[in-house]
Amino acid sequence: MAGVQDRVALVTGGAQGIGEAIATRLAADGAKVAVLDLNADAASATATRIGAGAIGIGADVSKADQVEAAVERVVAEFGALHILVNNAGVLRDNMLFKMSEDDWDTVMNVHLKGAFLCSRAAQVHMVQAHYGRIVTMSSTSALGNRGQANYATAKAGLQGFTKTLAIELGQFGITANAIAPGFIETAMTKATAERIGSTIEEMRERVAATIPVRRGGVPADIANTAAFFAGEESGYVTGQVIYVDGGRGLL
Ligand code: NAP
Repeated sequence: MAGVQDRVALVTGGAQGIGEAIATRLAADGAKVAVLDLNADAASATATRIGAGAIGIGADVSKADQVEAAVERVVAEFGALHILVNNAGVLRDNMLFKMSEDDWDTVMNVHLKGAFLCSRAAQVHMVQAHYGRIVTMSSTSALGNRGQANYATAKAGLQGFTKTLAIELGQFGITANAIAPGFIETAMTKATAERIGSTIEEMRERVAATIPVRRGGVPADIANTAAFFAGEESGYVTGQVIYVDGGRGLL
């Protein structure tokens, strides 16, 4: 099966949540996987859980030297880099009048600069191989979300980034696509629930009541879409954003 068999994938923010689910799915589909995360031990622990020769790498996606070193390590270990999943993310939610410059800069640095640095480093190897798949995590928050002026801006920016990569890199056999998840149950959404004095169960129920599929999302829902974009057969699909949100806004 073509798919991602024997392809080399780097998943940022891959130690937990959506990133872990994507890394696990790509490995199960036959890819050689590198899990990159801020915490090297967490990245390695996840790689061990995944098995199949996966490796863990500690790096901050917002630091150019660390990103370059991480990409070089992947290529040194596996001999190539075919699939990049720009997934690392943080929240610094606050209403605009309370949002600090640090809240703004941190979110821009991890999401926007991180995706830029990782994609720039990865494309060198993809262009050489005349093959690549770049999958970037946007969000339904790109459409605007109360308390997330920073995050919504970054996630909307990543859609423009994705379309531009599609334009520039298509001629080299590289596709670039984005996934915009709705509510997905992870440490990130648990922290949000706690911050607003709720529980993840209450949050899940509230979201489920407003969408056609009547359930909360799970990381595997996003991994499934990522696997589609990452596959060899998806080479005619580029510059797209798929909203994986249970039909949010349709009711
Ligand atoms: P998560 O559970 O918090 O996982 C994110 C991972 O990224 C964490 O392991 C985190 O490490 C890591 N990370 C943070 N900053 C990093 C950096 N500078 N360099 C490298 N790694 C870094 O979040 P998630 O819910 O799986 O979200 C994954 C992606 O999907 C994010 O881009 C998020 O914005 C997006 N998304 C999520 C949802 C949702 O409902 N969950 C919805 C839409 C979009 P630490 O834990 O050490 O900080």
